[in-house]
Amino acid sequence: MTAVGVSDELGLRLTRQLGDRTRFGGFVYPLLLLAVGLQTVVPEEQPALFALGCLVTLAGALWRTSAALKARSSSLQNWLASREELRVSTVLLATFWAILSGLALHAYPNGEFACFLLFCLIGWASLGASLFSPDLRLAQGFIHLNMLPAMLWSIEVYGRFTFAIVCVFAILWVAAWFVAKWTHSHLRQLVHSQICLEQQTEELRLARDLAEEAYLARNQFLSGISHEIRTPLNGILGVSELLRESSLNSEQSELVALMNQSSEQLLSLVNNLLDLSRINSGKLTLDRVEFDLRLLIDEISQPLRLTADAKGLQWSVKVRREVPASCFGDPARVKQILNNLMSNALKFTDRGGVSIEIGMADGGHIRCVVEDTGIGIESSHLGRIFEEFEQVDRSITRHFSGAGLGLAISKKLIEIMGGRIGVQSTPGQGSLFWFEIAISETRS
Ligand code: ADP
Repeated sequence: MTAVGVSDELGLRLTRQLGDRTRFGGFVYPLLLLAVGLQTVVPEEQPALFALGCLVTLAGALWRTSAALKARSSSLQNWLASREELRVSTVLLATFWAILSGLALHAYPNGEFACFLLFCLIGWASLGASLFSPDLRLAQGFIHLNMLPAMLWSIEVYGRFTFAIVCVFAILWVAAWFVAKWTHSHLRQLVHSQICLEQQTEELRLARDLAEEAYLARNQFLSGISHEIRTPLNGILGVSELLRESSLNSEQSELVALMNQSSEQLLSLVNNLLDLSRINSGKLTLDRVEFDLRLLIDEISQPLRLTADAKGLQWSVKVRREVPASCFGDPARVKQILNNLMSNALKFTDRGGVSIEIGMADGGHIRCVVEDTGIGIESSHLGRIFEEFEQVDRSITRHFSGAGLGLAISKKLIEIMGGRIGVQSTPGQGSLFWFEIAISETRS
């Protein structure tokens, strides 16, 4: 919304507020006249004037109410016309009332009737200060119209108290004027902040929609490109396998082994990207089959143990007795998570060892702990370790392969399985990754 737009919107809302607050306000005049008629001799002494007063105030009240209803439903284009109609109807009605009151005070300057009328005029003026505050000019004009007859009357009635009465009226007049000004500026500020807030909310909503669209497009791109890369990559891997089995000299074998290793790394990266895009777009579905957790851990552990031996590291795997012999869940995804944590532990450890312990946690969850005595992770990076593409310190981890996706995928998979994951680490001393997942003993 432009600056002009905001000020128009502000005008519209204030006009609507004015209409809402004073919708039936005009009917106060005929009601007051009715009260005068019931309590005084005015209708008997001035029947024509009294009847005219009743008729005009009733017609004015009806017009005032219809103007207020129109203002309520007016649009940004015609709020000015609505405000004008509200102003004119209010001023005309109040002017008529002021003339009527002035005449009445002139005719009956003393006694109960004058007191009653003064009370009405001052009360109505002070009420108007806040009721008409959405339109400051109208509020102030209304106060003047109500206070003027009272002031003129007090000047007309010479007596001992004239000066004091004039002073009191003047004070009330000024006070009502300030109340109107103060209430108006607060209301204006409030409505202005409300408009800005709505505008910001709308902008944020648009930004969120755009970000979601971009996120979706990124996932679609990742998924598409990964699929496209995976097919030729599998071809390269197949050919390099065949080459390895053919008769090669030692230099050629070394080159083919290097090609094979690089292709496998690339394939694992592409698979990770595919997984990530599937998870992010909510398209990943988990299997629910029976499997042997101990066997699964053995499968992962055996090749890694060889690497640990080659690096001169201790490798210990412990599955507690209370862990059920067979579980229900998605063995491929459990394997993927465990494999990622164990490979990382091995990758970032050069001395000491790696230990894996599987036990039970609260609520029948399986708890897996992978602990190493490797390089550890700075505490400042621990909070971001499970974010996508997060690699802690590239200067340290540069020579390790990986794109910083393994932990992000593991966390998302664990959360889909209704579990949680955590890490504790001391730089230079090692890390401990744990996770808990619900892989039940039964199919339910
Ligand atoms: P990557 O495939 O790059 O290893 P991960 O998401 O598995 O990606 O790990 C992200 C980063 O977290 C790693 O690059 C490494 O810096 C850090 N990290 C993960 N596991 C360990 C660990 N056991 N010891 C030290 N740093 C680790």
